[in-house]
Amino acid sequence: MNNDDFRQWSRRAADWGADYRDTLRDRPVRPLVEPGDIFRSIEASPPEDAEPMDRIFADFEEKILPGMTHWQHPRFFAYFPANAAPVSVVAEYLVSAMAAQCMLWQTSPAATELETRTVDWMRQALALPEGFSGVIQDSASSATLAAVLTMRERALDWQGNKKGLAGQPRLRIYSSDQVHTSIDRAIWVCGIGEDNLVRIPVGGRFRAMDNAALEAAIIADREAGMLPAGIIACVGGTSTGGTDDIASVAEVARRHGLYLHVDAAWAGSAMICPEYRHFWSGVEAADSVVFNPHKWLGAQFDCSIQFLRDPESHVRTLAIKPDYLKTHGHDGIINYSEWSVPLGRRFRALKLWFLLRAHGLENLRTMIRNHVAWSEGLAAQLAKEPDFEIVSEPMLSLFSFRHKAATGADADEHNLRLVNAINDDGRIYLTQTRVDGRVAIRFQVGQFEATAGDVDAAFVVITEIARSIG
Ligand SMILES: *Cc1c(COP(=O)(O)O)cnc(C)c1O
Repeated sequence: MNNDDFRQWSRRAADWGADYRDTLRDRPVRPLVEPGDIFRSIEASPPEDAEPMDRIFADFEEKILPGMTHWQHPRFFAYFPANAAPVSVVAEYLVSAMAAQCMLWQTSPAATELETRTVDWMRQALALPEGFSGVIQDSASSATLAAVLTMRERALDWQGNKKGLAGQPRLRIYSSDQVHTSIDRAIWVCGIGEDNLVRIPVGGRFRAMDNAALEAAIIADREAGMLPAGIIACVGGTSTGGTDDIASVAEVARRHGLYLHVDAAWAGSAMICPEYRHFWSGVEAADSVVFNPHKWLGAQFDCSIQFLRDPESHVRTLAIKPDYLKTHGHDGIINYSEWSVPLGRRFRALKLWFLLRAHGLENLRTMIRNHVAWSEGLAAQLAKEPDFEIVSEPMLSLFSFRHKAATGADADEHNLRLVNAINDDGRIYLTQTRVDGRVAIRFQVGQFEATAGDVDAAFVVITEIARSIG
């Protein structure tokens, strides 16, 4: 592709992106395809000869697009949002065009320094104390892995990376059962092992860890000769928004000298609004906090900020510094690859910078406040319906509900059938979870272009389809 063609096709892609957004509301949120449909539609062998761009682009529209789930659809109420505000897509285009590697200061000084600045902008936006620094990771999973590795190395006095875990005391990490599966995987990957992730029972409306049980578990483990290393608390768990009492957990962590990582991957965005910050009060005492601007806030995936109260133990865990990566002569410069597991790094700060400037915090706050209010409104509306029950009350913009099955019918099966029927209908998209072992249907609204009308449409679709399946 020469530069003239590059120009032409880039314009074509830009027009396509805007047309796509214009027509999103009319598309089924989830594609109506069977497993293997798309795979079979793609040539089995790679082309030996160059093909014209017209044909490639036409195939994208004909074969790929009908198999996409539309995450930017205003009636996407499943999982959590993965917003890509148009301005962040524009920034991503520039980043892709430059395609710089941003592992060291000198491999892209602007990327490094903008990252430091935008992370600090977000720190201020969330009202985290001065002194917290941070890094933009690809995903919360990576941030949590980095945090668990740091817990491990701190507890082992930095001997784990060198000697491995054989012959070391048995390490223990504590969390509730509401945390995301990325915590399990971090525990597996860092060699601590699932058996040493101690699940603390939860209680209360927000399913918070029982702090007395947490402290008792730490003491018992230590008496049994094991080595408690850290605690992972969550604010806004994926199932029903489970949220720990961070101030109390931090107090336990402090008393026992444990590293505290807080996973607020989804809910962190809402902390730009002062009225929601009570959900993580005490967070300033955490050692590490992760939140994903690529979820609710609108920074195109991927963009996950890990804040660190004291980056030294984090960097000491992850930095390698082989000779060919040494950059001499710049005292105090940051090489962000020493803050993350992968070496190569994308320039993720640009889209955050564009996003925050083009929208301003106040508009983003309004969006989040609207989502929370609409979700609360829908929960209240469903609660009034005789055949529906609210299973978990709204935590920010997330709640879960159940439809009553006919007498004698299995309630779990009925609700799975309902959620599948709703999704096959295509007008909205929801996902299910299990609450205390029973199926519940989740609802969250967080799409950038969602309106109150879209949430009203959700009520119509849910009640209409529930009636039709009985
Ligand atoms: C989405 C989510 C994650 C995982 O985030 P990735 O960036 O996809 O790794 C972890 N924890 C919580 C609470 C989440 O909502």
